[in-house]
Amino acid sequence: MRGSFVRAAVIYGAGDVRVEHLPDPVIKEPTDALVRVVRACVCGSDLHPYHSKPASERASTIGHEFVGVVEETGSQVTTLSMGDFVIAPFAISDNTCDFCREGLHTACRAGGFWNSGDVGGGQAEAVRVPLADGTLVKAGVGEDSDLLPSLLTLSDVFLTGHHAAVMGGVSPRTTVAVVGDGAVGLSAVLAAKRLGAERIILMGRHKVRTDLGVEWGATDVVAERGAEGIEAVRELTGGDGAHAVLEAVGYRDAYDMAVGVVRAGGVISRVGVPQYEEAPIGFGSLFGRNVRLAGGPAPVRAYIEELLPEVLDGRIEPGRVFDRTVALDDIADAYRAMDERTSLKVLVQP
Ligand SMILES: [Zn+2]
Repeated sequence: MRGSFVRAAVIYGAGDVRVEHLPDPVIKEPTDALVRVVRACVCGSDLHPYHSKPASERASTIGHEFVGVVEETGSQVTTLSMGDFVIAPFAISDNTCDFCREGLHTACRAGGFWNSGDVGGGQAEAVRVPLADGTLVKAGVGEDSDLLPSLLTLSDVFLTGHHAAVMGGVSPRTTVAVVGDGAVGLSAVLAAKRLGAERIILMGRHKVRTDLGVEWGATDVVAERGAEGIEAVRELTGGDGAHAVLEAVGYRDAYDMAVGVVRAGGVISRVGVPQYEEAPIGFGSLFGRNVRLAGGPAPVRAYIEELLPEVLDGRIEPGRVFDRTVALDDIADAYRAMDERTSLKVLVQP
């Protein structure tokens, strides 16, 4: 058992992730639960502070994807008990307010995010979970389940890909282009296939990754970037482009590529956290061709219950995005490997 301290990953600045002992999380509100983390992972979006966070004397906790076991519940928690295995979405939500009822849990009136205020991060041994009844979803498995990697993807990565496909209006009638062969891009391929897309063009140039994309339903792979990449996708689509472009990168050149490959009347659905504030939206880019812009942080809480059965019965195996596992104490290696692209996505075992 843990003592009065837990080990947790913290970041001091770009390239500087460490594991430190932090005070053991405790129940503060009657709606809280304490969760012992069984598996966590590093997100592509964790690499943004890893690249650019200014150095600081003060450490910030990090990590927002985890699954674990409920250790303790506050007096007002009614749906969870000690020992329940739970999936924690990357956003905290009450699951009852008007935004939550509309399926937009990332805008929950009472909600929030990990690593903010007095809430810690998911790359840790244990976490205090606010609004536990609303936030957590019971998975109905034991902590020795073989399904842990796939269940963990319901915390963020797979459902972010799913959100891209949903916001892109993907259906059997749509041609889809996915920009990016990271874990979210590959998840978007799997999600688009699941929603019936028959033509899925994956834009990426790391063969090991695009091979998994092909297994998951990509019908074409375009390795070229920029104008050449746009030209290649247009050629594959009779010159028209794709109905739904799922942008899973977040950099400005990925947006420009999406504008270049989207079909008139189509949708650009962005789930890569944008690292830019300005981009073309005028007549020549979006307006003149009736192109819509959609996407944003995935309200994964709204999707977990729908997708969980397919993970539990093995119909989908989104956990295949993990290609390496490290102990929490070695988490700096996980960041390095993902940053250097020697790993697609790293599982962390506390
Ligand atoms: Zn809410």
